[in-house]
Amino acid sequence: MQTGHGDGATPDRATTDEPREKCGVVGVSLADRDAARPVYYALYALQHRGQDSAGIVTHDGFQQHDHVEMGLVGDAFDEADVEALAGSTGIGHVRYPTAGSVDQSCAQPFTVSFNSGSLGLSHNGNLVNADELRDELAGLGHAFTSDGDTEVIAHDLARNLLDGDLLHAVRETMGRIHGSYSLTVMHDDRVLGVRDPRGNRPLVVGELDDGYVLASESAAIDVLDGDLVRDVRPGEAILLDADGTGYESRQLFEVDDTAHCFFEHVYFARPDSVIDGTLVYDARRELGGALWRESGIDTDVVMPVPDSGRAFASGYADAAQADDASVEFAEGLMKNRYVGRTFIMPTQDERERAVRLKLNPIRSTVEGKSVTLIDDSIVRGTTSTQLVELLRDAGAESVHVRIGAPPIVAPCYFGIDMATREELIAADKTTAEIRETVGADSLAYLSVDAVAAALDEVREDLCLGCVTGEYPYDVAGEATDRDVDRPSPTGLAEADD
Ligand code: SF4
Repeated sequence: MQTGHGDGATPDRATTDEPREKCGVVGVSLADRDAARPVYYALYALQHRGQDSAGIVTHDGFQQHDHVEMGLVGDAFDEADVEALAGSTGIGHVRYPTAGSVDQSCAQPFTVSFNSGSLGLSHNGNLVNADELRDELAGLGHAFTSDGDTEVIAHDLARNLLDGDLLHAVRETMGRIHGSYSLTVMHDDRVLGVRDPRGNRPLVVGELDDGYVLASESAAIDVLDGDLVRDVRPGEAILLDADGTGYESRQLFEVDDTAHCFFEHVYFARPDSVIDGTLVYDARRELGGALWRESGIDTDVVMPVPDSGRAFASGYADAAQADDASVEFAEGLMKNRYVGRTFIMPTQDERERAVRLKLNPIRSTVEGKSVTLIDDSIVRGTTSTQLVELLRDAGAESVHVRIGAPPIVAPCYFGIDMATREELIAADKTTAEIRETVGADSLAYLSVDAVAAALDEVREDLCLGCVTGEYPYDVAGEATDRDVDRPSPTGLAEADD
């Protein structure tokens, strides 16, 4: 079913203290040139969404070509691999696995050949009923080669294609799969993009000089010198014309409430991408400004945790200065960009040293100062603890931590590797207890309502599952956001609490 080879060096998840995006998807249809190279460049632009495998599938009007390999885009393809992918339509994928194995069997795009043609599928998201569908399809004789949910979608689509065209098949499959998905699909030489009915994961459509492109983020359109047309709407399918001259839109499902993942704006997406109508960089600055207004403290300096906290810190500092606070924005931590995620840290002692290898304080901006340290989130709390200690060792008089999102209290089931409930520091600790654990003089998170206001959305239109424990899709054993009314888990904790 799939080609490619490789053994795929995979990071030890126990050593990471960051949420990880699952995947990025691309689809391209061009008038008169091969699609593989634009797909390849677009995948580079989406590399932050997945680093374990990369793949491209194209169609030349007669047959499908594919190359799927473990590793980063730059390692997965050489010039000859890209050249060999003939055809003016193609889809691509970068993957970080949160469902299924960490090996080649789950690398994407997933391909299926059947009597009436070929199918390629790229998926960002996570189904909540994949096991049930897999059992049903296996009972009907479908043979599975992986344990991933993408293969379940591919088999269901292939089955529905026996009774109709691609739009019909996608609609039928959407009626059966539940959970989060943005897909790019290639049936023979036609490329289609679709977003789940609640629009959890992003997907945009863009126009090139000689064709159209679908991508997880608009940064992938920018890299192709294209123009962002718009977001694909929740429940909408966009079918690109095979000759690259246009596209057809079909609203396949309608829902009242969307469930956009708010963490895309907070952490996952590139700051230069526009998602659901908002530039991510602006959204992060807004969140930073809201953080100042909710829990600002007038310290000597405000500094970001690089790079994730930078836009938050600049929005926070601007809002502080607008209120005549004397706080100065400064870079107080320097990042070593060459410490990659494959860094080997076999012992706890070495894992603790990892922060020292990645970040080093700039003593002159820290020594003798009261410092506000801004970041986007706290997952396990290990990084924050070490950073507070680093700043104190560098002579900080006091260290106040401000977080541009609410506490992460529950896991994500929809395509983000967020750690388990047991590993999340906020799952069973109050803000005061977390402050004590990380050793800060004060700690504050942004409230859920402030997040919704800063993103120009109402709470009901966002997925906030990981910060409220109330999910937009039915997950066994968990509450849904339709039947629970809990207060926002937020608050400010100071040293004398
Ligand atoms: S649970 Fe959190 S990370 Fe997962 S989709 Fe919802 S908001 Fe995003």
